[in-house]
Amino acid sequence: MIIQMMGPQACGKGTQAELLSKALQLPIVSLGDLLRNIPKDFPQYTQVEKQMKAGELVDFEITANVIKHAISKPIYKHGYILDGWGRILEQYKFFDPLPDIVIFINIPREESLRRISGRRICESTGEVVNIYTLSPEEVSKCAGPLVQREDDTPDAINRRLDIFENDTMPVVKKYRTQGNLIEVSGLGTPEEVFGRILKALELFGK
Ligand code: AMP
Repeated sequence: MIIQMMGPQACGKGTQAELLSKALQLPIVSLGDLLRNIPKDFPQYTQVEKQMKAGELVDFEITANVIKHAISKPIYKHGYILDGWGRILEQYKFFDPLPDIVIFINIPREESLRRISGRRICESTGEVVNIYTLSPEEVSKCAGPLVQREDDTPDAINRRLDIFENDTMPVVKKYRTQGNLIEVSGLGTPEEVFGRILKALELFGK
């Protein structure tokens, strides 16, 4: 089974993908993570780094090659949870087979901006936290300084949200007409959002 996660920046896609991955025993393929960890000797490394830092989409040919290479690995043979691919119609058309289920987690633009401004990464563990909702447990786990993602600057955030509204929403609409789209609100705690997703999946017969 292929499940695709969609939603505006900081809607909680990554967190929900992890919860789903544990519940359904499916591995995650995150294009954002693959691109962030691209090796320095990758031929278009400088271009990828520059485009990501500016909040632009990385060129189609590069992303298509990266995703194709990733999902050809044996661990993804029985299905996976896809996070980050399908942000433009060109990527939607390229994808074969199409995902069985698409989960669209929606939050208003102001909430994306608020969450991103508080998003930090623990430099020692790589854990993503939010300074507005930091729990004592997260504080005790995090040994290193909290740093911001390079593309979490106001300009880059606004560019990424514009891309979502102008280029990714048409893809969401395509899935909506195909009938394989689950839509849930991303407001509330991760557990609340996950509860909504599980309920919707049940209604879907999964
Ligand atoms: P994310 O971690 O999903 O927010 O992605 C971070 C950045 O990676 C984006 O702002 C883009 O620069 C790049 N990226 C991720 N997914 C894609 C994609 N499907 N197409 C092009 N660029 C992408």
